Amino acid sequence: MLVFASDASGKIVSINNVKNGKACNCFCIACNDPLIARNGGTINAHSFAHTTKEESRTCLMTALHRYAQEYFLTAKTINLPEITIYHRGYSKTEPSRKALINSAKLEYSIHNKYIADVKLKTDIGDLLIEIKVTSPCSAEKINFYREEKLASLEYDLSVYIDSDYADVNCALKHNDDTSNWLFGWCEDQLRKEINQKVELNQIEMNKKIRQQIEESRKQALRKFDNLKKRQRLKIPSHNIGFNHNINGKNYDLSAQVVKSKSIHFKEVLLEAEHEHFLLLKCVALNNSNQERVLNVALLFQHDTPNILKKDSGQIIVGRIKKSKRFKFEWLNFTPPDSALERAKFIAIAEKEEQLIKYKFIEHVTNYADVYALEQDRYFSNDYPKWKTWLASQSDMASNENFNVKKTKYPALLKTNNTHPQLWMFDRWYILIFSKLAEFIDSYPINTPIDTKYIFELLKNEFPLSHNYNLFVEQAEKMNVSGKLEHLLKPESIINTSLSFFEEKLAVVKESNYFVRKYDLKIQMLPAKN
Ligand SMILES: [Zn+2]
Repeated sequence: MLVFASDASGKIVSINNVKNGKACNCFCIACNDPLIARNGGTINAHSFAHTTKEESRTCLMTALHRYAQEYFLTAKTINLPEITIYHRGYSKTEPSRKALINSAKLEYSIHNKYIADVKLKTDIGDLLIEIKVTSPCSAEKINFYREEKLASLEYDLSVYIDSDYADVNCALKHNDDTSNWLFGWCEDQLRKEINQKVELNQIEMNKKIRQQIEESRKQALRKFDNLKKRQRLKIPSHNIGFNHNINGKNYDLSAQVVKSKSIHFKEVLLEAEHEHFLLLKCVALNNSNQERVLNVALLFQHDTPNILKKDSGQIIVGRIKKSKRFKFEWLNFTPPDSALERAKFIAIAEKEEQLIKYKFIEHVTNYADVYALEQDRYFSNDYPKWKTWLASQSDMASNENFNVKKTKYPALLKTNNTHPQLWMFDRWYILIFSKLAEFIDSYPINTPIDTKYIFELLKNEFPLSHNYNLFVEQAEKMNVSGKLEHLLKPESIINTSLSFFEEKLAVVKESNYFVRKYDLKIQMLPAKN
């Protein structure tokens, strides 16, 4: 829809400001064809029509571009959209605002290099306007504007080619969404402000670092005084990691080439006071009364100064921790080959011993698990014995569930049927539990009962597997009894078994004894059919 044209004098006019029909005396801005104005009607939107030529898209685009340029010739103000810049890790925003237009020039040449669509003189300075109808500004032109720091704003009117006069005016006036800064009018200033802020921060940070170094220096001097007085320092251990294959598996091991120990010094001297550390010379006497020197550097900052890194001698560096104390570690420590080999040998031997321990723990655990999972093996032998036991308990005998052909398992043990802790008795778990209940019930209610003694009673009833003593002995020898307590220690074994009665509130456990609150044998009654 063509809504802009040039009149006989070459002035750009919109359809709403001309006479109707041929009397408008207007021409197409692009192809110069005489136009007739159709602005008398009330139903169709007003527009110009070509008279001899076809109206092309170029006619529409040229008219829109030209109109937008002319708009600035009469505009009194321009909206400057918001500018946000990101610089050196900070962002800064200048909100949108209005500028007063003092003058406007079209097709303005800059250094004879580029032509700007419009150049405005405003109360915030010169401002270049580019109007995009089809093709945007070239990258070179944008670069040039940015390098020259020329405030420049590009309007994108490409979606307004078919729009009417009012919409185009609105897009030019309310340009927050229809224009982009090629170079923001205060962009340079915003960047300068950020630079100032960064520099101030840097100054502040340097000041803090200097203060911290000074504080650390004082602390290092105090430490030196203290060492001079006490003539003693606990030197740190030093470990060297290495990889070793044991039985086809790779392990990351650590060889301790220096053990941590307290050393007595004959003398502690201040060798040098450096910008970043104090270097102390600590003289000790060895067994044959020969002097040995240990260098200790007390650092003022965490990072190791390069001058120390280059030092090939063995040296201990101390760093100040959060606790304000010095923590020491070896720097550049290269042990003699023989010492390293010895340390590796020890580390490997320790690892091998540990693996043997794990294997033993695994073996015992598996052994107990097999017992717990294979209760069917004990059933044929012990089920009849359990029925005999039930019948022998005079206080339980009259129960109606006894005399059925297939006596059911007690409800409590039907669900809780895995008891690796009972492996050493090598019998059917229900029979063991029944005897356990019988033993405990022989004590009066609320009398302390010794857990260990209950184990003894069970042991007399069900002779222990010969593996039990073997495993106990070996666990002690290997120092892994703690890890196998639940499968080897009498108190733990009884306590684990009692926990099922404890859930029923039949017993209450104390530290090394327990009391019963009512009959446990009730829990051993066969379940109903
Ligand atoms: Zn035309």
